[in-house]
Amino acid sequence: MAALGGAAAAVWAQGSQTGPVAVPDLLQNTAVKAAIAGAKASEAQTIEDQIRFCEIPAPSFKEEMRGAELKRVFQELGLENVRVDKAGNVLGDYPGAAPRPRFVIAAHLDTVFPEGTNVKVKRDGHVLRGPGIGDDCRGLAVLVGVVREMKKAHVQTPGSITFVANVGEEGLGDLRGVKELFNTTLKDQIDRFVSIDGTGVHVTNVAVGSHRYRVTFKGPGGHSFGAFGMVNPMGAMGRAIAKIQEMQVPKQPKTTFNVGRVGGGTSVNSIPFEGWMEVDMRSSDPAALAAVDANFQKAVDQAVAEENQRWGRGTITVVKELVGDRPAGSTPENSAIVRTGLAAATALGFNANLGEGSTDSNLPMSLKIPAVTIGAGGRGSNAHALDESFDTTDAWMGTQYALLLTVALAR
Ligand SMILES: [Zn+2]
Repeated sequence: MAALGGAAAAVWAQGSQTGPVAVPDLLQNTAVKAAIAGAKASEAQTIEDQIRFCEIPAPSFKEEMRGAELKRVFQELGLENVRVDKAGNVLGDYPGAAPRPRFVIAAHLDTVFPEGTNVKVKRDGHVLRGPGIGDDCRGLAVLVGVVREMKKAHVQTPGSITFVANVGEEGLGDLRGVKELFNTTLKDQIDRFVSIDGTGVHVTNVAVGSHRYRVTFKGPGGHSFGAFGMVNPMGAMGRAIAKIQEMQVPKQPKTTFNVGRVGGGTSVNSIPFEGWMEVDMRSSDPAALAAVDANFQKAVDQAVAEENQRWGRGTITVVKELVGDRPAGSTPENSAIVRTGLAAATALGFNANLGEGSTDSNLPMSLKIPAVTIGAGGRGSNAHALDESFDTTDAWMGTQYALLLTVALAR
């Protein structure tokens, strides 16, 4: 047993965003060294966990079964206060010398695959194949690997750690897991956050935010011949789409919009009573995202006014329902958490690149809580597809990396 502290503790002086990063010192610590070695030695166990977690179905909103298994493992490994919050996030504490700072490290339980998907994992030499095997069963296995090796080596930290297997990262899950975690379960109790999501070794410090809408246009409807002259919801929607396609957005930071799906109508000879479309907008800059959203709203409202004015018979109404809201944000490159993320990789002899993405870290970044998302090692391909695969070659690097970063951030 060996406690950490001293010079290293100075890194995180009250809310400090800069300062020295003393990751290499940590590798001199006997317990940390043992845990890092253990992370490599027990890779077979980590892969076994990865397969077992993955063979428990966990579509977004139906994560209970996989969550129950993570809860069991958290308890078995000796985490304290293992609990499930209202959203279904599974939490377990690894207390340090002091309750604060509190570092939270998470991996998401949910997958994009609907109920009934065959989730059996196939082993093909050093390659594993199965839906969700990399995203994010690898993250869950690494999360558990970090707990296991820290416990085994009796690593002690000045600050406390909470390990979380969270729900609702994917698609219409809309970050509901981390929203519950930061807004309710651990409100004002999280000092820094890392999400383990995806594969390889990387540090995601820019959060691409998105707004998604389902827009429904409604009118009286009628016979295409008999009621001719009546306002048409499809007409309003067509006008709206034409205006949206003319919107101007900045190239830097990259800001985008897309009308992805349309539907509605009754028959070819009916004036429809309803038409709908789904629209997605993205940017890493909160102001740019707000601006493209405002222009979209204006385009829709103007389109409805024009359609109503054109015909004068009947009235089109419109409802814009926000069905996805991932806040944009970023953690500065010179912040302590990003520099620690890069330094931890260097200390272990690998290279981590900075990048952008849309992950659970979007939420804390938007709240200005230091946060990054890291990869869980190995090499993944075809995430979100049924033929997703994970190459286990040297995947232990991901476990070592998450472990060293955890120890470095829990102080
Ligand atoms: Zn993921």
